Amino acid sequence: MALKLFNTLERSVQPFTPMDPWQKRVGMYCCGPTVYDFAHIGNWRTFVFADLVRRALEFSGYDVNHVMNITDVEDKIIRKVRDNKTTLRAFTGRFEAAFLEDLQALHCRLPHHMPRATDYIAEIIDLIGRLIHRGIAYQAADGSVYFSIEKYRGCGCNYGQLLKLNFDGLRVGERVSADEYEKESVADFALWKARVAEDGEVFWGSPFGEGRPGWHIECSAMSMKVLGESFDLHLGGEDLKFPHHEDEIAQSEGATGKPFVRHWLHGAHLLVEGKKMSKSLGNFFTLRDLLAKGFTGREVRHLLLSAHYRETFNFTLDGLQGAKSALARIDECVGKLREITRSAAAVPEPALLEPFASALEDDLNISAAWAAVFDWVRETNKRIAENSLPPLAAAGALAAWERVDSVLGIGCKSEAPVPAEIAALAAERTEAKKARDFQRADAIRDRLKSMGWVIEDSPKGLKLKKI
Ligand SMILES: [Zn+2]
Repeated sequence: MALKLFNTLERSVQPFTPMDPWQKRVGMYCCGPTVYDFAHIGNWRTFVFADLVRRALEFSGYDVNHVMNITDVEDKIIRKVRDNKTTLRAFTGRFEAAFLEDLQALHCRLPHHMPRATDYIAEIIDLIGRLIHRGIAYQAADGSVYFSIEKYRGCGCNYGQLLKLNFDGLRVGERVSADEYEKESVADFALWKARVAEDGEVFWGSPFGEGRPGWHIECSAMSMKVLGESFDLHLGGEDLKFPHHEDEIAQSEGATGKPFVRHWLHGAHLLVEGKKMSKSLGNFFTLRDLLAKGFTGREVRHLLLSAHYRETFNFTLDGLQGAKSALARIDECVGKLREITRSAAAVPEPALLEPFASALEDDLNISAAWAAVFDWVRETNKRIAENSLPPLAAAGALAAWERVDSVLGIGCKSEAPVPAEIAALAAERTEAKKARDFQRADAIRDRLKSMGWVIEDSPKGLKLKKI
């Protein structure tokens, strides 16, 4: 079976076929963070989803070129730079660094390219110039340059590829200058915003006068510069479909006359404790808030990856507790396999790999993929308990797990090292048992427990585990 993914352009699940004639290389762009604050858990759902898509493509044998931009100039950032009386770079640099830290805490593979909008001003200006040259963009009396929906449609181009839009109420030339504007209100949007006093020192020179780029044009310029004028895959949260992604398509196709992206993927949004996240409801979490509550990045990742990407997901603290115990079950099983064998075999066992791969290929059916993992954990535990898993079979199981985890990216915790004092007490207990001094043996067991360690007696000898 080959990989199938939902394509927002076609509104259906379709086989994924890259443009590369060798069917090997894939160019993938995901709209990255706007670095004006710490990313919240809703943002992280999108970025972890992008990481899953990239890993699933790599699992299927593709060579992925993963691009995620950093939006480091737009309306909200400029407002904050002004309020904080700081410079653009000093302000955004701090949140960009925090974003990279969080990305790694969630076990996301680093994108191959992370272009910053402010490093692509020349490309942005060039793209706007092409749109003006083709008669699709115009400079208004306020000095700003706008994209003309009417001219674009007049060229036979389609505005509204991702979303059905209503053009009936459209008044020709109605303009919007804000980066974020109302849903489905079709209007000419700003490509270049003429410098105003409130922008402070945030401006660049251009043939259309001093100013700064609009948000939408940044993504068109960066994605086409790094991946080419047409590329395979564009991802983002569903809230970006309109206007951001629709505008990206219009700007790119308007300038090049070529199809911009083959395959659009959108992740659904997230509720927290059943409600839309908001600071006033107390259900607004950054990753840092969750780490401070004692959860780990892998637990948050597991929970974010527990629902299908096109379903609205209800993120709860109870769910995070569940993630903790689910991961403990996997850790324990993989830990036992590592006790039986030190290395993974060359050939992974198919019992896990096959159902996992077919779940993944079916539009990233993650619930079925996790079900395959937990069925395998149950079966493997049973075989270990029955002593019917020889080292070679264990090595095959381990190899299958490693392949699967190359997609899930949760890793497995190694056993905590046993401190000398604890090992000495355990040895003392063994001696006591040998001497049939069970009272003393039990007393040592209790003492170890109070120190946070449990002893498990098994046919292969004793094992110490951290509680
Ligand atoms: Zn974007």
